Amino acid sequence: MAIINCPVCNKRISSVATQCEFCKTDFADGIDDEKLLRKAKNKRFIQIQRLQNFSFLFVMLFATGALVMYLGITDQDETLNLSGRVMLAAGFIGYVIARVKLLMAKKK
Ligand SMILES: [Zn+2]
Repeated sequence: MAIINCPVCNKRISSVATQCEFCKTDFADGIDDEKLLRKAKNKRFIQIQRLQNFSFLFVMLFATGALVMYLGITDQDETLNLSGRVMLAAGFIGYVIARVKLLMAKKK
């Protein structure tokens, strides 16, 4: 028995293990490349989808911030306007970060 790296998640596992204890990849019928490739692709797909969800959430935050800021214009209370600005800025920055990460994930 030796310690090897799992070909999918790269964590250290036993060479005789039939399943990776971390990512639950089955090795019972041998480590077959096509299966691993599919698994890796699937993992990337999930990552891309998560990033798309994130960027959508940030767009929503941005839009909400714009709305709050608009509502705050007529309001004497400055905090509404200020919180709108903060949401607008956070939404914008978050969206840009999510988009850049998405671009990098797709390029891989
Ligand atoms: Zn693994």
